[in-house]
Amino acid sequence: MRIEFIGAAHEVTGSCHYLKIGEKHILVDCGMEQGADIYENQDIPVNAAAIDYVFVTHAHIDHSGLLPLLYARGFRGQIFATNATTQLCNIMLKDSAHIQEFEAEWRNRKARRAGQPEVVPMYSVNDAQGVLNYFVPCDYDKKVHVCDELTVCFRDAGHLLG
Ligand SMILES: [Zn+2]
Repeated sequence: MRIEFIGAAHEVTGSCHYLKIGEKHILVDCGMEQGADIYENQDIPVNAAAIDYVFVTHAHIDHSGLLPLLYARGFRGQIFATNATTQLCNIMLKDSAHIQEFEAEWRNRKARRAGQPEVVPMYSVNDAQGVLNYFVPCDYDKKVHVCDELTVCFRDAGHLLG
């Protein structure tokens, strides 16, 4: 097994870890950086389309917020999360996408007036809607057979529902 720390290595937000187990490419969390970007996240060492599985520890945006971007870049694997995390992501990722679009539109209104190039939102509501189709909702405390090399079990850590 190979493990690389993509984000949240020196700080709290932007949680993302890359694992290679056998021939499978796996992410544990795919979070967005929040607050001052002091330590820039590493790039994921493989193409988004090559990621087989994502395991989402919980729905907070610093653990789930870049899933729509992963989808926009070609990810079509499976996302394992608890039932509650899946339901919360359904609300939070669409909301996050709405904020991205709203902020881009606001900046572009100013950019147009100043004759500056327009910005593109990091991802769209469509990307958020798209990635939600790849969630595999799981129960707490039940072993989930993912592939030959991997079985996972979600436990309640008492941090957030899901
Ligand atoms: Zn959290």
